[in-house]
Amino acid sequence: MTQLIKTTDFDKTLTQHIKFTVYTERQLDKIAPLQQLTDEQRFEMRVVANVLPFRVNQYVIDELIDWNNIPQDPIFQLTFPQRGMLAPEDYERMAEALKRDAERSEIQAIANDIREKLNPHPAGQQEMNVPMLDGEPLPGMQHKYRETVLFFPSQGQVCHSYCTFCFRWAQFIGDKELKFASNEAGSLHRYLAKHKEVTDLLITGGDPMVMKTSHLKGYLDGLMRPELDHVQTVRIGTKSLTFWPQRYVTDPDADELLALLRRLVKNGKHVALMAHFNHWREMETPIVREAIKRIQATGAIIRAQAPVVQHINDDPDVWARMWRTQVGLGIVPYYMFVERDTGAKRYFEVPLERTFQIYREAIKQVSGLARTARGPSMSAGPGKVEIQGIDEFNGEKVFILRFIQGRNPDWIQRIFFAKYDPDATWFDDLVPAFGEEKFFFTDEYNAMQG
Ligand SMILES: *Cc1c(COP(=O)(O)O)cnc(C)c1O
Repeated sequence: MTQLIKTTDFDKTLTQHIKFTVYTERQLDKIAPLQQLTDEQRFEMRVVANVLPFRVNQYVIDELIDWNNIPQDPIFQLTFPQRGMLAPEDYERMAEALKRDAERSEIQAIANDIREKLNPHPAGQQEMNVPMLDGEPLPGMQHKYRETVLFFPSQGQVCHSYCTFCFRWAQFIGDKELKFASNEAGSLHRYLAKHKEVTDLLITGGDPMVMKTSHLKGYLDGLMRPELDHVQTVRIGTKSLTFWPQRYVTDPDADELLALLRRLVKNGKHVALMAHFNHWREMETPIVREAIKRIQATGAIIRAQAPVVQHINDDPDVWARMWRTQVGLGIVPYYMFVERDTGAKRYFEVPLERTFQIYREAIKQVSGLARTARGPSMSAGPGKVEIQGIDEFNGEKVFILRFIQGRNPDWIQRIFFAKYDPDATWFDDLVPAFGEEKFFFTDEYNAMQG
């Protein structure tokens, strides 16, 4: 089943025929396999893609999607817009405008109206986590948890393809105000030098791996200076192993990229590629296997994380097989997330109870080495909250919750209880159990929000 490919055996011609071609909503008609759909189905995609970002590349189309199984195919669901992603009234409004060939400006206005209702900035990302340097805000950065700084390099704020359920979707719709980004390697390094409590830098996006190696170098080389010795770990959040593994194998600057990772490792950094995998199918092609080996040969560690998403991976067997595949490839399962309360959540969300069952049923099937995945975890305003269980105390059914990460480090590992609610899909749906008025952190968190 699992075919091992030696680095030296890899035949580059195998994938060189796949050019890096991307399609956005204006090129939907150019995607050949979509011709098998009805006109109505193609129109539905166009309606949704005029509101939510759409981008897919040729590798995903040719190598990952099983076109004999659409629309159910999980990779099709992962990348192609589906009618259910919009509320019926919003869908109708956009469909009506497109049908009568409304002006571009009107379509834009309708799109923006609908987007506003989709909670474009979940968990106070934009207001609450922006760090300050010399009295000035640093817009391309977030510093929420004491030991980790997030950096959004401006050249890395797109992806090779977009995930339909993306929680950062608002960045990709051309609204400059919604975009976090910085090309200020200098202020990043100065901020880090002043914050000795920071052990981890997390480069994220978008996808930083869309950047040319020369740009990445600008951000990463400076981390090897002695005044940044306290920054022990460099994490890079990426979906490139799914969407463009060629980045590490056949791209013109692939070898240079691997050399950069190797240099960081040699200089004592822990380099972690935080790979986003939703389904084991993303790890099956020869080229992704080759990319994984090449990254690992630099000394970098690949860790894997993903949300549970309806229509894509809301099935414990999919998760168990995914974690087993990862462990087999030397990848460390890290987080299982709860799908965030934004964008097309109406189509993708899974009740917390079901998400917890999926976690439990999946963990039960795998060995201890695959049980390194923590979760299910909600990245909410106060912190990362894990669902630890559902149980009854004195006749009251509750969710048992725990902070994995907290805006206040004192909250970490504290257990708390929320009233059981079979329909809850997100942290904000929960209320305290046992008749309490608030959670233990509520007052402190409210004070932080100012
Ligand atoms: C998840 C997350 C981190 C990293 O947390 P770890 O528990 O160290 O993985 C950092 N910042 C933000 C905003 C996060 O959501």
